Amino acid sequence: MPLDAQLDALARIYRVLDDTFDNSTLACHRGCAACCTQNVTMTTLEGYRIITRLSQQANLREQLSAAADSSRFLPELTINDLARQCAENGPVSEKNYPDDPAPCPLLADNICTVYPVRPLACRTMVSTIDCRKSGYAQMDSYFLSAGNIFLQFTEHIDQKGLTGNLTDVLSYVCDNRKRHHYEAGAAIADVGGLLPNHPLTVLMVPPEHRQQVSPILNQLNPAIGKIG
Ligand code: SF4
Repeated sequence: MPLDAQLDALARIYRVLDDTFDNSTLACHRGCAACCTQNVTMTTLEGYRIITRLSQQANLREQLSAAADSSRFLPELTINDLARQCAENGPVSEKNYPDDPAPCPLLADNICTVYPVRPLACRTMVSTIDCRKSGYAQMDSYFLSAGNIFLQFTEHIDQKGLTGNLTDVLSYVCDNRKRHHYEAGAAIADVGGLLPNHPLTVLMVPPEHRQQVSPILNQLNPAIGKIG
């Protein structure tokens, strides 16, 4: 899929997600940044969309350089690889997230500086209670299943790309040489901390939500290709 078509498909995924996650039931609001930490992960396609919308890339490079020294979650599996391994071998234990991570490098005064193009991990991390008071998020289990679909489709359309921590992915796409490789359809392999993306082969949706998620699949499949 050419990069322009990938970006169109990503925009569609964001639109369908925003329609699916009913804001009226959520406690999330502007200025609440309890979940805006350095543990966020994303794909190169999402990182590419962010940096091509930014006018001040020099500032971003400085922020990323500072963030690169902080401890952060480094995934060992992409979501499509995790789904495949779970389907083939049963539950897979995932790496723990670092405690007390630093704030996301894209956060300023508790406001996301890239909000319209924030990645899926941020869009799907929602709560029906105020996390700052409870210390944890509470999410409808259906939202978890729906969120997995959006994450899996996004990795699927970025199969020649990579997945990793937000700081590492943005550092990758900010590097002119690496970004040009990515634009040409050939992400550079063996980049520290980043994992190659995988196609979607099995959806990470439990049986009780299969019927409920079918409207999402009906909206995504025509634009992205029949999956699931
Ligand atoms: S990208 Fe924006 S919404 Fe996501 S963690 Fe960073 S500041 Fe928060």
